[in-house]
Amino acid sequence: MTMNTTTENLYGKNFIAGEWTSAARTVPNINPSDVTDIVGEFASADHGEVEQAIAAARQAFPTWALCPAQKRADILFKTAQLLTSNAGRIGTLLSREQGRPRPEAEGEVVRAAQIFAFFAGEVVRATGEIFPSTRPGAEVLVSREPIGVVAAITPWNVPIAIPAWKIAPALAYGNCMVLKPAELVPASALELVRILQEAGLPAGVLNLVMGSGSTIGPQLLDSPDIDAVSFTGSIATGKKIAAAAVAGGKKVQAEMGGKSGLVVLNDANLDIAIDCAIDGAFFWTGQRCTASSRLIVARGIYDEFVDRMIARMKTLRIDHAQKEGTEIGPVVDERQLAQNQRYIEIAKADGGEVIGGQRLQRDTQGFYMEPALILNTSNGMRINQEEVFGPVTSVLKVADYEEALMVANDTRFGLSSGICTDSLHHSTHFRRHSLAGTVAVNLTTTGSEYHVPFGGRKSSSYGAREQGRYAMDFYTAIKTSYVRA
Ligand code: ADP
Repeated sequence: MTMNTTTENLYGKNFIAGEWTSAARTVPNINPSDVTDIVGEFASADHGEVEQAIAAARQAFPTWALCPAQKRADILFKTAQLLTSNAGRIGTLLSREQGRPRPEAEGEVVRAAQIFAFFAGEVVRATGEIFPSTRPGAEVLVSREPIGVVAAITPWNVPIAIPAWKIAPALAYGNCMVLKPAELVPASALELVRILQEAGLPAGVLNLVMGSGSTIGPQLLDSPDIDAVSFTGSIATGKKIAAAAVAGGKKVQAEMGGKSGLVVLNDANLDIAIDCAIDGAFFWTGQRCTASSRLIVARGIYDEFVDRMIARMKTLRIDHAQKEGTEIGPVVDERQLAQNQRYIEIAKADGGEVIGGQRLQRDTQGFYMEPALILNTSNGMRINQEEVFGPVTSVLKVADYEEALMVANDTRFGLSSGICTDSLHHSTHFRRHSLAGTVAVNLTTTGSEYHVPFGGRKSSSYGAREQGRYAMDFYTAIKTSYVRA
């Protein structure tokens, strides 16, 4: 089987116990750049199919947990290679179903490959520790073991890299999985799972069930055969999942929303600051949990910053995601577009001045909108306290660094933050006092790298960090052994 052949024959199927099985029900997957383009009909798993997926993972677990490290590493590495050699094809598909410009979509597939390559190496680095014993003739060993069957519930905004950063460590450390991707992006998940199959993953180790979160999610959370849940998505869903998981005694991690502030001080390099603000707020159509949705700008540079933002916004190319030169694709669907427009109206009603934000017509019928910059707001307004998840950002004028820090931290979220300044003193102080999981200095609030931990504080995250070797804390159980020779 060569990976360059079409996968369309698998559309409409779940992947359970190593088999692509036709689902009882399917739903259409629509291209947000052109609603007349149906990517395909994809599975919507029913109760029985989800049960089978859980049972398959449970059954595969004892063998996979004992699978030699080299074999696990080889499968993960092969997955990285296959993702790389298929990045163009899968990137095009991701762009088509999600609306991300094609080069960025391909970049996400390459990122997924890097994640698998990283965890291929981590397989043999799941080290423990040896301690002296307080008892004579004994010693104490602390070692890592897999936790069992992990359910991964993933969002639509990062269709392949988020599943990758849950699957790769889960498998690396010897766990089995059930993946439930977001309804809007089933094709990317299907491609990823097919590549893992092609890379030689044994039957049942990873199972894919597609469909509605509100029905499949609770079933996964209620199952005594699921030991842990890794979730990325909205705060409302994440809170429900965390509560249900705790009630059921399951290990859980949840990555949720953000309201990240990018601070721009008077001494900032404005070229850098504008790049960070435009990219962080508007690229990926603002559909990133780390998006710079509040631009907190010092009074002395405010007018120039706003003028340059408006000038730059006029040059942004918003169009069909697969069109050459598009910088910003459509909003992911009608519901999200309506939410973006609703928040713009809320901001206006609260006294905000909105630049841009109009719906746009293009050659194809899609969910296009201009980015919106909102002036004259205060931090207490809803537009600055609730996550929009679209290309919508506010500019908040502050007197000085101290006020900027206070405003940046004045949110129930704590995923990421950023500061643009040439002052070592202010950037260091901000790095230490920002109440966010990720802090960026003269870089966008949105950048994260695969070899270091990702996660937030306050309402943005619950549980252990993801990515890098820190992922081991979630995907392994610690065993303490007392041994007398
Ligand atoms: P968004 O609003 O960005 O789509 P959600 O939090 O609704 O974010 O979705 C993230 C993931 O959670 C998706 O895979 C979705 O299907 C799933 N999901 C939605 N509702 C539930 C639920 N009640 N339990 C478990 N998973 C859910």
